[in-house]
Amino acid sequence: MKLTKVKQLYEGKAKKVWATEDPEYVIVDYKDDATAFNGEKRGTITGKGAINNKMTNYFMRRMQEAGIKTHFVEELSDRETIVRSVKIIPLEVIVRNIAAGSFSKRYGVAEGTVFDAPASEFSYKDDALGDPMINDEYAVALKLAAYDEIAEIRKTAYRVNGILKKILAECGVTLVDFKIELGKTSDGEIILADEISPDTCRFWDIKTGEKLDKDRFRRDLGNVEGAYNEMYRRIFG
Ligand code: UDP
Repeated sequence: MKLTKVKQLYEGKAKKVWATEDPEYVIVDYKDDATAFNGEKRGTITGKGAINNKMTNYFMRRMQEAGIKTHFVEELSDRETIVRSVKIIPLEVIVRNIAAGSFSKRYGVAEGTVFDAPASEFSYKDDALGDPMINDEYAVALKLAAYDEIAEIRKTAYRVNGILKKILAECGVTLVDFKIELGKTSDGEIILADEISPDTCRFWDIKTGEKLDKDRFRRDLGNVEGAYNEMYRRIFG
């Protein structure tokens, strides 16, 4: 596709989004900037932008092969990708296979406790409110989505979990949990958007349990770049 960056539309914590010559498509540009705890902790993870761009595109392609519609169109460079322009539904969907992070803290469950079956939750995507957890009924009351859309989103999230878990297991990685965002196209279709990367997933080495994701940054565990590079190596060889 012959599209170029025309005008910056938005700069988020980890990505910039640019308008192109075609309103149906935008270009995302991944940064090395990292934030945690709703922007309270800031830093740089050298090389992260390129790794997250390529890894997201790889996972999005695999989702498409499995019949899940995504915003992915074409990788332009190390950090830039053309994606469908969507209106992001302000619901962050988290799927967990193993207790960790906010789940462990909130419910007093040891990190690493394996669930009998995956479980999901939604957050209302609003930085000013700190992305509060929300249920279906409140999401409908706030007109964030309709009941049938929420059901479809949850179903997609569990399908993504199944596919991702399998891809990662083949790379010697346990998928602990992850967050996805979905968006609506101009014709009202809900498709997978945003990113799937070590910024938005918890990845643990299958054998050692070593953390290979953004928790290394959040928790000052050291070797943050090493973890992102290791995940890249596991997936692309
Ligand atoms: N997550 C994310 N963005 C957020 C919150 C969470 O990508 O704003 C991801 C996070 O990387 C993890 C999963 O969602 O893979 C579950 O995160 P959790 O609720 O445990 O929150 P955290 O402990 O990261 O605050």
